[in-house]
Order: sequence, then structure tokens, then C-alpha cells
Amino acid sequence: MNDTSPNRTPLSPYFLDRASTLRDQPDWLETQLKSDTTRCLIVHGAQLLCRANAPEHPIILAPKALESVLQLSADSVFLGTVEGIAYFAVLVQSAEQAAQLCQQFSGSFEPSVSRAPHMERADKDILSLACFMGYWHSRHRHCGKCGSQTTVVSAGHHRICSDSECAQHFFPNMDPAVIVLVEHDGRALLGRQARWREGMYSTLAGFVEPGETIEAAVAREVHEEAGIPLEAIEYQSSQSWLFPNSLMLGFKAKATSPEITIDPNELESAAWFTREQVRANPDMLPNKASISYALIQSWLQSEDRGVMDQ
Ligand SMILES: [Zn+2]
Repeated sequence: MNDTSPNRTPLSPYFLDRASTLRDQPDWLETQLKSDTTRCLIVHGAQLLCRANAPEHPIILAPKALESVLQLSADSVFLGTVEGIAYFAVLVQSAEQAAQLCQQFSGSFEPSVSRAPHMERADKDILSLACFMGYWHSRHRHCGKCGSQTTVVSAGHHRICSDSECAQHFFPNMDPAVIVLVEHDGRALLGRQARWREGMYSTLAGFVEPGETIEAAVAREVHEEAGIPLEAIEYQSSQSWLFPNSLMLGFKAKATSPEITIDPNELESAAWFTREQVRANPDMLPNKASISYALIQSWLQSEDRGVMDQ
């Protein structure tokens, strides 16, 4: 895969080798958790331990630094390798333990450091996965069927109910959501929610409902939020958006009518924008790491390729 592929979106696990076959090799994992080259990130829920005086910088430690504080073998999630170096997320369960770690390493637990603009792609992949694993494990310590405690297996990629008669299995999963660049007569439909920063607009998005195809979800969401009927719904690309656990499925589509009727519970406003308007006001666009930004950029560039307005 080429990094300049138009279907490539940010925050996809490209540089991180998940090395899934190693998750069930306890000897290899134990060796890594004793190696000075191994890198550990510390997560408490979905928050990452960062430097207190520079909260956009995570604290990354070798296992030895954590041995006296945490049970590494029981509380670690193997994230994968980058250029042969193993990365683990070490799960901190109690608030007391979290406070102790903050004091010991002059840190603070931060929620969204993996979105910091200075992050390299590989770092974002690892940090967002670490935060997701912290989030998922913190919500699956007990069995949803019988209420017994669950135990970690497969290096943190799986939990099993400790009640031998129940033995329910739990796997980390993401919630599918659709996001779409809708075009009509050379203009793009962009909307904004009241809670967003002032002036920001983005493509419309929403979660896929049970029993629904992703194409049907695109049509339903745009109709619900903006009253716009769609045709020519085409899949573009995807992005894991682990804040906390969405799988974003990106589409483009054409509106069969430009008449906007917003749902005020969903959107504060929505409007049609020309490419010139968007180019003249780059501050209106969402986070550059988001798939929405990638969809809008693809639309802006499609004018040059002459592929979307025909
Ligand atoms: Zn159970």
C-alpha cells in the first residue's frame, strides 16, 4: 500500500504491526515484558498518562520502571510492534493506583493526546489503540450475562467470564458510523453542531442502526438531519476513530433536491458551500486528522480531476 493512496485516511493502523499471532505466545510476551527495549503506555479508562508539565506528551516507559507498581503480566495489552519494538498498554484499574503513578512519574492522565497535531502517524496509531483498549477493558470487567468477573486472555484482546458454567467470551469491538460528503450542483452540504467551535462545519454523520445496511444508514442520516434525499451513494474510505470506539465509513453521494430542512436536535445549521467558499475559509474545516477533512479535501480536488460534477 502506498501512503499517498487517495483512499488512505489518517489514524489507520498502517505503521503498527498488530502481530496478532504473538498474542497467544506467553513465552514471547513474557520475554518482551522483561526487555529494556519494550515500550509501555499507561492507561486509566480511556486516558493516557502524560507529562504533567507537557500534557500533550505521553509518558513511555520500559517495563522495569513499572515492575514495583503494576502487575505487568496481568494488566498489559499487547498493542503490536513498530520496527521490531513491542508496545504494550498497561491498564490501571483503581483511582488510587492512578494517583500513585501520577505522583511517581510527575504525570497526569489526559483524554485526547492522540489527537494532538504534533503526533506522528505511528504514534497516533499506538496511542489511540492504547486509549481504546483502556476504555474497553474498563467497561468489561464483569460479565454482561451473569455478572461474574471476567479475566484477560490473548494479551488483552479478549476477556472470558470467570464462571466456568457461563464462560461467555467478550471481544473488543467498534460501533460502525457513516459519514458522507453530499454534493448538489457543484456545492457540498456541510452542517454544524452547536457544541463545535465557532464557525466549524463538517460532513454529516451518524451511527448505523441494527439491521440496516451502511448505504441505508447514509440515506437515513442525511434525510433525518437535513431533509435531503440522496442518490448515487458511493463508499470512499474508512477510519478507526477510537474516541472512544467508532469505525467511520466514508461515502460520497448526490442530493436529488437542495431544499434543506434541519433537525434542530441534531444540527445548529447546514448549508451548501462552493469549493471557492471552502478554500477561502480553511478555518471552517474539521480536524485535519478526521475522515471528514479527507472527504472534503477529496471533493475539493475532484474538481481538478473532473470526476464528481459530471
Ligand atoms: Zn458470565
